[in-house]
Amino acid sequence: MPFVKGQKAWNKGKQLTKAHREALRSGHSKEPLPVFLAHVQNTGEGCWEWDHSRLNNGYGKFGAGKKQYLAHRYAWELFRGPIPEDMQIDHLCRNRGCVNPDHMRVVTLKENVLAGIGITALNAKKTHCPQGHPYDAENTYRGVKGERKCRECNKIYLRQRDARKREERLNDPTSVPNDP
Ligand SMILES: [Zn+2]
Ligand SMILES: [Zn+2]
Repeated sequence: MPFVKGQKAWNKGKQLTKAHREALRSGHSKEPLPVFLAHVQNTGEGCWEWDHSRLNNGYGKFGAGKKQYLAHRYAWELFRGPIPEDMQIDHLCRNRGCVNPDHMRVVTLKENVLAGIGITALNAKKTHCPQGHPYDAENTYRGVKGERKCRECNKIYLRQRDARKREERLNDPTSVPNDP
């Protein structure tokens, strides 16, 4: 069955491609590597295009035994070893259908979001705070989650808070005034 991009072959009752069947017949049923590689178009320097079923988001899908795996993650584990639970695979080549381990790196979720075009990445590209103060070296500090914060806004906030406290003290008959 020829590979058609975006087609969910595994959903159509024909789970095994010809290459897969041949690999199984040749006695490789216990060896995931040759079965896996039978689904790879080119194993040179460039992208290793996954020519078997894919998810709608473009990632390859690979069934080994009774389990389904993301093909690129499976490739990493085959060639490099286990992926720590809190880590993700980032495609350096930006080709989700690529299963070449040389084109991947293991990153934290945060690094992966920054590498992509998530909201975090868009925020990182912003040059000014919501009030229009610049996110430059002088005016920027980091919050507990590593997010950028505006010193100018923080100064304004602290000034207002102090003013509010002063006012509360003045209106509180039990408080002792600081100033004579
Ligand atoms: Zn690639
Ligand atoms: Zn600001």
